[in-house]
Amino acid sequence: MRFIVLLIPLIWAHQAKGQIEAPNAEFAEYLVAPIHVHRLVTKGELSLSTTLEKRDLERIFGKVNRIWGHAGIHFPIQTITTEAAANPIIYRQNYQSRQLRWMLTLRPKASRTTNQFHIYYLKRFLANGVYIGPGGMFVKDTASLRSTENGVDEPIPRVTAHELGHALTLKHRQNVTNLLASGTSGWTLNDAEIKQAREAAKKIGWIQTASSVLKKADQTYEAGDKKQAKAIYRLIAGIPLHCPETTRAKKRAE
Ligand SMILES: [Zn+2]
Repeated sequence: MRFIVLLIPLIWAHQAKGQIEAPNAEFAEYLVAPIHVHRLVTKGELSLSTTLEKRDLERIFGKVNRIWGHAGIHFPIQTITTEAAANPIIYRQNYQSRQLRWMLTLRPKASRTTNQFHIYYLKRFLANGVYIGPGGMFVKDTASLRSTENGVDEPIPRVTAHELGHALTLKHRQNVTNLLASGTSGWTLNDAEIKQAREAAKKIGWIQTASSVLKKADQTYEAGDKKQAKAIYRLIAGIPLHCPETTRAKKRAE
């Protein structure tokens, strides 16, 4: 009997290897921080052109949200735009510079908003990813990481989730299995980081609770504006949780 009891965790650990553990935050705890994803695609500039497709980005954010679900924070893609980088000449002048602030000049002016986080995907630059400000996070298609035990199985979701950690005030913590370690596939957050990230998120005016997003979506739906309701339900439909709230949001977001 004792033998069987010992075997169960071993089997479970084996199956969990290489996966992000399922989060168990409750719907009412969730905070929702909408993301504007920018696919930079620049004619004649391979480095300034991502080859990630919409379906890739959806898969990537599925993993980002599985990681951040452990903190009860959800990052739905609210907007995806495909745009040419502004000022490609600045890239050619600066691409070897370790100081990456110049990258902000790559952002097209027309799509900058102040009520979303902005992540720009491109093919290559000097780091895997960089957080310069809420309006300027950059991640490259060619990101590569040192793999750690039970780490994320592809680099881009991990790099994206890491930069979002900086966006919520987290600093580097060099433990290989940690999301805020540099250059590894680790994804875990400790209690202090979860507390700090949630406090930072609560201070940002456009980050709402999942419950208030749901309430707004339901009101819009009941008022008969199905199209607008759908856009609001989409913000919470991807929360990695099976409950009546996400079930209703999923159904009405389709
Ligand atoms: Zn970092």
